[in-house]
Amino acid sequence: MDEKFIAGVDIGGTWVRVAICTADLNENNIIKNNSRTLKKNKYSISNSVCQMLSEILTENNIENDQILGIGIATAGPLDMEKGEVFNNANLGFRVVPLKEPIKKKFPKIPIYFINDCNGSVLGIHFFEAEDDERDNLVYISMSTGIGGGVICSGHLLLGKEGNAAEIGHALVEPKSKFRCNCGAYGCWEAYSSGTGVQNRALDALNEGKLNADLLLQIVDNEISKITAKEIFQAAKKGDELSEKIVEDCVYYTKVGVGLVNNYYDSTSIYFGGAMMKDKDQIIPLIIEQFKKDPIKFTINHPPKIKLTKYKDEIGLRGALALVKYKLEKNKIIS
Ligand SMILES: [Zn+2]
Repeated sequence: MDEKFIAGVDIGGTWVRVAICTADLNENNIIKNNSRTLKKNKYSISNSVCQMLSEILTENNIENDQILGIGIATAGPLDMEKGEVFNNANLGFRVVPLKEPIKKKFPKIPIYFINDCNGSVLGIHFFEAEDDERDNLVYISMSTGIGGGVICSGHLLLGKEGNAAEIGHALVEPKSKFRCNCGAYGCWEAYSSGTGVQNRALDALNEGKLNADLLLQIVDNEISKITAKEIFQAAKKGDELSEKIVEDCVYYTKVGVGLVNNYYDSTSIYFGGAMMKDKDQIIPLIIEQFKKDPIKFTINHPPKIKLTKYKDEIGLRGALALVKYKLEKNKIIS
């Protein structure tokens, strides 16, 4: 009964995921569970994290003193020191305290926090990246929003509170009339995230300049049913309006990747997030651009463009990797 384990948690706007694994993080030993994110009050999330962790430990006959650490990756912005999320648009409250209530339940176990994209890049670093790309590695999440995690010269970039690499709010279109979720105009996220694609399509429909018959057919003329999924589907079928929106989504992603590569000189950039359900309409075009004609978007040598194979599990794997790297005082986060 002396075997040691690491626990991981990933908190997102829709799902909370937990996992335990043997301390070597052998992926065959990862046991996981998930549940819908509760938003009844500001302690709902920490309560359900405590409950899910307790359950997974009990079910597997693991005692608290066998846990070396709990890694928590969460949607940000996150104050890593305080262990609380602030100003997040999807978790329901202005401040969501995590550290204090979870510490109360597991007082003797070290708890480490990280914002989810920074966690994901650690997950890729540990579970997926090849040796020659590990020191200069970027993760880009294209989902409801766009976020990033950056390892540069062998160090994870964290910033003063842990929110470095908010790359989705890079300004890709000065004088843009499209407002981003953050309140600014012309962010990459306003063009290429799920909500960005959706909002831009609705604006274009209102404008009425482009034909959208195929898109409207897909949603039975119910405009409220239009999401990024239907827009990508319609674009595939040749819908004029949807093609334009998807073309812009891809174009501004090229701009974003170019900026990231200019700033961080990356060996590889891994993509993930819900938008990757339509990866075939995005990723091959990005790969081709940076293989054949990178200079239009970046002055540095181009990065390899890849896709994480762990999909929506990469944040949870990152939370596990965070604990392992903290315990072994790995130079990547020291
Ligand atoms: Zn923004």
